[in-house]
Amino acid sequence: MATGKNRGPALTVVQTVGSDRNGKKGGVSVLDVTVVGVDVGVKRSVFAFVGVRARLLSDLVVIYGRQNGVSLMQLGTYDAVTRAYVVDVRYPGVDKYRGAEMTGNIVSKTLGAMVRAIHNVQRIHKTLVGLVLEDLRQFNGYKHDLAKARAVWGLMMSNFSKGVSKCSAVKVSWFWISYEGEVMIPTKDSIPIVLVEPEYTSSTCPRCGAYLDKVKGKVTCDYCGFKGDRDVIGAINIAWRGFLVLTKCVREGALRI
Ligand SMILES: [Zn+2]
Repeated sequence: MATGKNRGPALTVVQTVGSDRNGKKGGVSVLDVTVVGVDVGVKRSVFAFVGVRARLLSDLVVIYGRQNGVSLMQLGTYDAVTRAYVVDVRYPGVDKYRGAEMTGNIVSKTLGAMVRAIHNVQRIHKTLVGLVLEDLRQFNGYKHDLAKARAVWGLMMSNFSKGVSKCSAVKVSWFWISYEGEVMIPTKDSIPIVLVEPEYTSSTCPRCGAYLDKVKGKVTCDYCGFKGDRDVIGAINIAWRGFLVLTKCVREGALRI
């Protein structure tokens, strides 16, 4: 799975920004967008980094995590086509004795590392980095252990939704699925949060879009041979959905770098 050498940008959105429509020159620039998709689990959360600065960002998150005292596991470049860098973090789970407290502690240290890494990358590279989560606000119960996962999700949301000013909803398609994404547009120094619909995030092959049968644990796609576990698949799909939503949002002028 880990190809390691795949260093090209996943997708670069080249578009016209700035003042060219007034006839000034130099209006064309490369817009780079990177996102972190998070699959929130009961005992583990998986982060998939997708976009131009994905590799750098995932490396920094692991380093800063270590400095904060949390061990983030780097799973490497997951797949040459999906071009996601995957990192995970494990915690005791909210139902164990003292588990909620421990989980909260680990999650907030991880998020601290994430925020620091995102701010650094944004500052140095003038890039846009967004955090993508499943929209679990109106959840209708197809996910196992929802209440517990939602508690962890709530921790993440409360950490990131500070300083967010307004939302912008856009509709995009990812393989055969059309879905809605909502971008919470940040005020100064905060990070845009993208909420995407959670349907099929762990049952769509992130490489070819095939439907994956509901099987726990490791999955192999019958069509393209992609291998991965459910959490990793979920995180990569969440990241790509968020990437599409965020780039569309930028194209439509709701967000600027
Ligand atoms: Zn496939």
